[in-house]
Amino acid sequence: MIPGLMQDVPLQISSILTYAASAHPRRAIVSRQIGEPMWRYDYAGLARRAAQAAHTLVRLGVSTGDRVTTLAWNTHRHLELFYAAPGFGAVLHTANPRLSDEQLAYTINHAGSEVLLFDRNLLDQVERIAPDLKYVKTYVMLSGREAHDSGAIGALCYEDMIAQEQAAFDWPRFDENAAAFLCYTSGTTGDPKGVLYSHRAVVLHAMGAGLASAFGFTAFDVVMPCSSLYHATAWGLPFVAPICGSSLVLPGDKMDGASLHELIDGEGVTFTGGVPTIWTMYLTYLEQTGQRPTLLKRVMIGGSAVPRAMAETFKTRYGVATLQIWGMTETCPLGVIASPTPALAELGPEAMQEIIWTRQGRLQFGIELKIVAEDGTECPWDGSTPGALKVRGPWVVGRYFRHADDANDLDGWFDTGDIATIDQNGFMRITDRTKDVIKSGGEWISSIDLENVAVACPGVRVAAVFGVPHPRWDERPLLVIEAHEGQQVSKEEVMAYLAARVVKWWLPEDILFGTVPLTSTGKIDKKCLRENHKTHFTRPD
Ligand code: ADP
Repeated sequence: MIPGLMQDVPLQISSILTYAASAHPRRAIVSRQIGEPMWRYDYAGLARRAAQAAHTLVRLGVSTGDRVTTLAWNTHRHLELFYAAPGFGAVLHTANPRLSDEQLAYTINHAGSEVLLFDRNLLDQVERIAPDLKYVKTYVMLSGREAHDSGAIGALCYEDMIAQEQAAFDWPRFDENAAAFLCYTSGTTGDPKGVLYSHRAVVLHAMGAGLASAFGFTAFDVVMPCSSLYHATAWGLPFVAPICGSSLVLPGDKMDGASLHELIDGEGVTFTGGVPTIWTMYLTYLEQTGQRPTLLKRVMIGGSAVPRAMAETFKTRYGVATLQIWGMTETCPLGVIASPTPALAELGPEAMQEIIWTRQGRLQFGIELKIVAEDGTECPWDGSTPGALKVRGPWVVGRYFRHADDANDLDGWFDTGDIATIDQNGFMRITDRTKDVIKSGGEWISSIDLENVAVACPGVRVAAVFGVPHPRWDERPLLVIEAHEGQQVSKEEVMAYLAARVVKWWLPEDILFGTVPLTSTGKIDKKCLRENHKTHFTRPD
């Protein structure tokens, strides 16, 4: 090998900001605030205020490599900190306000942050956990002067602080492998684990995600991230949009149907994305009010499986294409995404649609995939043999923060904890998470497939399927249903609907009605359901 002779320019997040400010300075950024009026500016304005925020952090004593925590929603101030902290070499830990107080304090302590910046409606939560925070010395409320409340913790006011600073920052050049973001998994198994994204990973991920085969944004798009900024950097949208010159609309903390529709229509959103629970609310709102989105073209959905019925409703009723994405905190998060290919087009429009609606997505440049059988051999890509899904690539975790061991196997593959099939076209389908698979009489039942059928039954809003210990079959599926408001649906109706569509031994052993609990990232909380119902089939009558 001989070294290449090209410029050695590191991949740094600050370059995204400076690019957007020079190439797309007037592209709008609109943000709903927390109890303050709607905020409007552009990429030039973002660059100015991110510079002021960076000076503020430096003034507070933050230096290269130090962690800074945000506890905040999808707002412009949070976006500014996405560029301010990593811009000068600090690390932004985006804490999740939906964690329990105990887990939240755990992650902030584990991160070792000395500065905590938070949204004003999270003041109570911050005051509650403050006595347990070992390293935080400075609290900053993300608000204007009028809305500011220093609370019992003596919080400083963000707007007051940045107003004193210069609107330009000479972003330093450093190693692209330096850490930029610290994102914790939601801790469904044990304590949350920290994934430390490097500048290189974030930039490459954003470039990969911007490709036409993935998010495919143009400078005409108006992008609204409804995945949280604190959850795997809102799927990289705060970086992909400026790279592509797309406008950004930030919905604050309001994800109910009416609030989303107001922004989608009012701001001309063409592309949005979030977990399925948000879109269930949005579709219910459209159905109840008779409203329709006018400019919205695509909605990216991921984090948990997209019910086929949801994708079909979006397309057939509203002309909106669904783009399913699979990924995890450990993959920044883009892994695969379900965009069409000529090979699918050859099968005809209906067959193509069916594949797009029922697969998590296809192989993307940058992420290698493989599925592995229990004996360690690779499973064929035949679309029917399931195996443990492993991934490898420049934006996949190498080692968790403060963990001694490598997170990967000896060949550098990361075991995702998901079970999947892959077909000859590279389309991947998740059948379950390893820990959610239902083992009944020695066979596996896919909880995702069953939920997908159940949620299409008229009257059903959310369906959760999980395995419960059973005296004869090891485990049997139990189905919990949350009905649409004001609609009645009976056990017999659901059972008959399922019986016409799935094999007999997959049918749930019982069906319950009630509220389905969600995790801190808006997914069905199967751990909680399993715990609450663990004796359903074994308790003595
Ligand atoms: P947590 O593990 O805390 O839930 P993540 O958000 O990182 O946090 O979750 C990643 C997991 O979410 C994946 O391993 C997979 O099980 C699930 N997931 C993500 N996207 C999809 C999808 N489109 N379909 C099915 N499962 C998905």
